[in-house]
Amino acid sequence: MKLYLAGLASGYEPEHVARLFWPTLQLVKSYPTHRPDAIVIRKHKMHILCGVRVESQVTFQKILLPEQVDKKREETILCTALFQMLCGVTGKRPPWGMLTGVRPVRLVRSLYQQGMNEEQVANHLTKDCFVSKEKLQLAMRIEKLQRPILAQVHPRSFSLYISIPFCPSRCSYCSFVSRTTGESAKLIEPYVERLCEELNAIGSLSQKLNLKLETIYIGGGTPTAISADQLRRLMKTVNSCFDVAGIQEYTVEAGRPDCTTPEKLAVLKEYGATRISINPQTLSDEVLRAIGRRHTAQDVLDCFDIARKLGHNNINMDLIAGLPLDTVEGFSRSLSGVMALGPENITVHTLTLKRASTLVEDHAPDRYADVAKMLSCCSALSDAGYVPYYMYRQKGTLQNLENTGYTKPGYSGLYNIYIMEEVHTILSAGAGGSTKMVAPDGHIKRIFNHKYPLEYLRCYDVVQQRKQGIEDFYGQYVDLDS
Ligand code: SF4
Repeated sequence: MKLYLAGLASGYEPEHVARLFWPTLQLVKSYPTHRPDAIVIRKHKMHILCGVRVESQVTFQKILLPEQVDKKREETILCTALFQMLCGVTGKRPPWGMLTGVRPVRLVRSLYQQGMNEEQVANHLTKDCFVSKEKLQLAMRIEKLQRPILAQVHPRSFSLYISIPFCPSRCSYCSFVSRTTGESAKLIEPYVERLCEELNAIGSLSQKLNLKLETIYIGGGTPTAISADQLRRLMKTVNSCFDVAGIQEYTVEAGRPDCTTPEKLAVLKEYGATRISINPQTLSDEVLRAIGRRHTAQDVLDCFDIARKLGHNNINMDLIAGLPLDTVEGFSRSLSGVMALGPENITVHTLTLKRASTLVEDHAPDRYADVAKMLSCCSALSDAGYVPYYMYRQKGTLQNLENTGYTKPGYSGLYNIYIMEEVHTILSAGAGGSTKMVAPDGHIKRIFNHKYPLEYLRCYDVVQQRKQGIEDFYGQYVDLDS
């Protein structure tokens, strides 16, 4: 499908509305005269003409504009008409309606902050944005659960993210910067050294700026892909640079059982991790093989069992709906298998197809029906006492569905909420780390580290220099304590 836009002030929103129906849609600069499947949108003085050709069937609409209309209102009128037209042409009704943003819960919160009551929020989302009742309830329920948690966030609080961009092998759906431990073996030791150096710098800076650490998240990649000794050194450094005893949550991803040994699980416990994540993605050996994992479902169960025996009493497990070769029944079995273990959190992702992954994009359309059914299996989670506590969407996700974290009462993963709702600063260390500073007025400033481990090591002086941006940011907000 091709999209041709002419005369609009901005094509960003209409393009994203069209992508809800054709995720691989191509934006073209010239009018497609050779009659391919295409959407053509042309703005005139008082109206917009919108034509859609699908398999030789042409649908056409003239959208009239009011006399006095600003750019924002014009965009909303166009997107609303386009969305309804594309629903008619395709027979599809995206469950998140014409919402293209990745944070629906944040949108609900901001509508309340604008003064809407519950009924007005519901009406706006279902009637103006065409969100399904089921998705509306999910977003509103999560917003309510998060309200008291977010009310406690202090402007000088922050979370620390530490990136370990190495994995034992590459999963076929992965688009992260992660390197496999085999090909990057020589990089790991110098990387850990530099990372500890950067943590020292962030620790000193956070003390100087009087910032209060609330949560730590060691993610990746797979943090347990480094050796037990390197993990020990890293966590010791964290303990020496930050007041870990006073924080609310310390998560380490121990995602893959093919590198998470009992010794490493013991190190995590000994050095203060309060929450770990063991991520099967599926409990089907066939699907695990298809995505390039070198472990079995039994390895996941064994890893979980060892973690429990070592005292890990807050464990998250990730599943992905829509993996190659998986079926609705298979996904349902994986979900039941994970629920039977009783982890404190279960996070259900919908497969996202990104160009940097090895999965072909053509995989997507065939799985549309299945993935929605897979997610509907998650109703079993509420019978087992889990409630949804955070949620986000990503571009390129099958059927534009969402990723949802479920929790047993009292175990909400705070870091996940903080980062998704952008309510406080996240200082990041390591390759691919993205520091995001949040001011009391909601203003956000980002500082990026170099993406790949080798770049990070070679350009570490730049990483150091960029830390000045953190001081400059907090220097602007001297009244944070008032
Ligand atoms: S474990 Fe995660 S980060 Fe590592 S290759 Fe697989 S998807 Fe990517």
